[in-house]
Amino acid sequence: MALKFADTHCHLDFECFRANLDAVIQAAITLGVERFLVPGTQASNWGYQLDVCRRYPSRLFPALGIHPYFVEQHADCSFQVLSEAYARGRGAYVAIGETGLDGRYPGSFSLQQALFEQHMELAVLHDLPLVLHAVRAHAEVLATLTRYPRARGVVHGFSGSYEVAMAYIEKGFYLGVGGVVVRANAHKTRRALANVPSGRLLLETDSPDMGLPGENPPNTPSRIPTICQALARLRGEDEAALAARCQANADALFAWNNQKV
Ligand SMILES: [Zn+2]
Repeated sequence: MALKFADTHCHLDFECFRANLDAVIQAAITLGVERFLVPGTQASNWGYQLDVCRRYPSRLFPALGIHPYFVEQHADCSFQVLSEAYARGRGAYVAIGETGLDGRYPGSFSLQQALFEQHMELAVLHDLPLVLHAVRAHAEVLATLTRYPRARGVVHGFSGSYEVAMAYIEKGFYLGVGGVVVRANAHKTRRALANVPSGRLLLETDSPDMGLPGENPPNTPSRIPTICQALARLRGEDEAALAARCQANADALFAWNNQKV
């Protein structure tokens, strides 16, 4: 039986996909990728992002959020717009995000923290999972999660040690696994992903970024089966069983729905 997958993190609303989005999506569907979670990054793109998701009902599912990279472009009213969208569109969004902290941008860190906490509150209010971006800031992200014990979600594009991975899992979070799993020099992260419980793993490409080594950009959701295969090999597990497990994990975290946004 053909394997079925979800790409739990792909930016199909980005500029580079505008000319050939149909082909990109069709190619992935042919390989068994049935669902695509499209996270938000900045307020100015939410409108187009939702338009794209409406064009592919039951395939593309949106989450809205402000990526840590873009926080400085957002005046206070952007978060108000986000809150109103979630209040109005109850049931239309599968998650909130992406949001989180990125230590590569220390100049905006306090603003990142403030917006991150607002996203957390919104997620708890609507009982929705969070799509977290945590780069070089695991201690700060974990400390924030401790203050929101009801929060749940995924740490997308997880990179870090086994101990950090287990700390997220203990807080009820899943780990999003992307191209890092085929990067031979990512020893620490590969060791973590080899040993965490399979019940906490999700597959993602982070398209158009995070391409597999040696491949030309843009990365696309068609790489999901390759990521699954590499993860299965790393863990010494049967590929079909791991694919089914990751699919069940995605279904447990995200209430896939087709309500109008
Ligand atoms: Zn992303």
